[in-house]
Amino acid sequence: MTTRGCLFLGGRWQAPRDGGTREVENPATELVIARVAEGGPRDVDAAVHAARRAFPSWSGLEVTDRVAVLERWYDELLAVHDELVATTVAEVGAPVVIAREAHVELGLAVLRGYLDASKDVAWEEQVGSSVVLREAAGVAACITPWNYPFYQVLAKLGGALVAGCTVVLKPAELTPLSAYLLAEAADRAGLPAGVLNLVPGAGSVVGEAMVTHPDVDVVSFTGSTGVGARITALAAPTVKRVCLELGGKSASVVLDDADLVAAVTGTVQAAMLNSGQTCSAWSRLLVPASRLAAATELAATAAAGLVLGDPLDERTWLGPLVSAAQRATVAGFVDRAVAAGARVVAGGSARPAPVGHFHAATVLAGVAPDAEVVREEVFGPVLTVQGFDTDDEAVALANATAYGLHGGVWSADPARALGIARRLRTGQVDVNGAAFNPSAPFGGYGRSGNGRELGRHGIEEFLETKSVQR
Ligand code: NAD
Repeated sequence: MTTRGCLFLGGRWQAPRDGGTREVENPATELVIARVAEGGPRDVDAAVHAARRAFPSWSGLEVTDRVAVLERWYDELLAVHDELVATTVAEVGAPVVIAREAHVELGLAVLRGYLDASKDVAWEEQVGSSVVLREAAGVAACITPWNYPFYQVLAKLGGALVAGCTVVLKPAELTPLSAYLLAEAADRAGLPAGVLNLVPGAGSVVGEAMVTHPDVDVVSFTGSTGVGARITALAAPTVKRVCLELGGKSASVVLDDADLVAAVTGTVQAAMLNSGQTCSAWSRLLVPASRLAAATELAATAAAGLVLGDPLDERTWLGPLVSAAQRATVAGFVDRAVAAGARVVAGGSARPAPVGHFHAATVLAGVAPDAEVVREEVFGPVLTVQGFDTDDEAVALANATAYGLHGGVWSADPARALGIARRLRTGQVDVNGAAFNPSAPFGGYGRSGNGRELGRHGIEEFLETKSVQR
């Protein structure tokens, strides 16, 4: 059992002033693995003041000097790679292979991308008679979800800290442990006191105190669309900049000339990655009606072939969902879909294991275009399969969602694939399963949010623009 009794405020590890503690569960074993401090409004106030005090000197450094400190942070994180992986396995339930590659190594790649992109920002440019300066926006409140806790924190902190902002970080209640490793590494790296402050706690208490605090300039939030909307409203009276990375309901569009096996197998893997608890998961597979039966069978076989089990086993690919509540939510979506007429061709809502919040990789066929499971984000290992007759119909189905985070196009013809990608109303599109790019802007259209993270664009989220006429 780990005890994390302190918050990190102004460069010092301190007990909460008005918070408490919370237990952290391992979702695979259902055992309590840690007890973690939770802050309250007075802790948030202290953290914001520490960040405010640190702001002039941190933002006043040359970019290269800030990056030199952050390079040391990167090295300190690399040095605890194995502990980060073990912590991710324990607090998220992610299988060790997924924790290593999709959580920790991708998170480090994102930080690397930010450090390299610091050279690409136009910190100063001439526009006619003006010199246009890009300056740090101020104190940033960063609020992150539980699905990829290490990655999500770095997707915000990398941009904020390179920009010269100082930060108050609130990790998700269910998964606060990797944030401690991040803060400890920053401390060892010599990040000046107050540049990074860590206040775990409840969203409704710590999160709202951050969002409404008059001395916070930017809120960067990743999480559900409902909470994002609430944060926008709470931040409005103080006219804060609010950057939102929200939910998704992304489609993978398989055109009639695509390699069906590669397309369907790749889609199933992307849908089930991290047990489907991925904002950009392709949770809808769209295939030509003429290939619907074959695609459905392939999807069922691919889903059934994913190894579910002990996250510590190197062969496991599908771990549990993060909590009992999340399992109940996902099973509820599946049960209602079946009641509405969907056919389960793989998986189903029955418990595949007696202990742990496991849910089988599930493929649903025979879903109506307006079914709940087709419209709403499930955030679990559930894929629907639908048929279409023309490319126009495929695009219309893909775009028939309030979200717009991600999409996929599969085709043997690169020009045709790009043409479809242009028509998808989403922030990302992968053609033929192309690899994730940790330096390319990541964010959503519509209800998937309004911000962009990663690389140069992610740094720019934390910059103000000043024009000086001479
Ligand atoms: P959530 O919205 O419940 O919580 C996210 C964070 O917000 C947590 O730290 C939580 O404590 C905090 N929070 C909750 N209520 C708050 C409030 N009133 N004020 C301030 N903060 C508050 O989301 P979750 O369940 O942790 O994560 C799952 C959701 O996140 C899914 O919808 C998923 O799609 C989305 N997500 C989006 C992205 C993206 O980049 N677009 C990435 C990952 C997850």
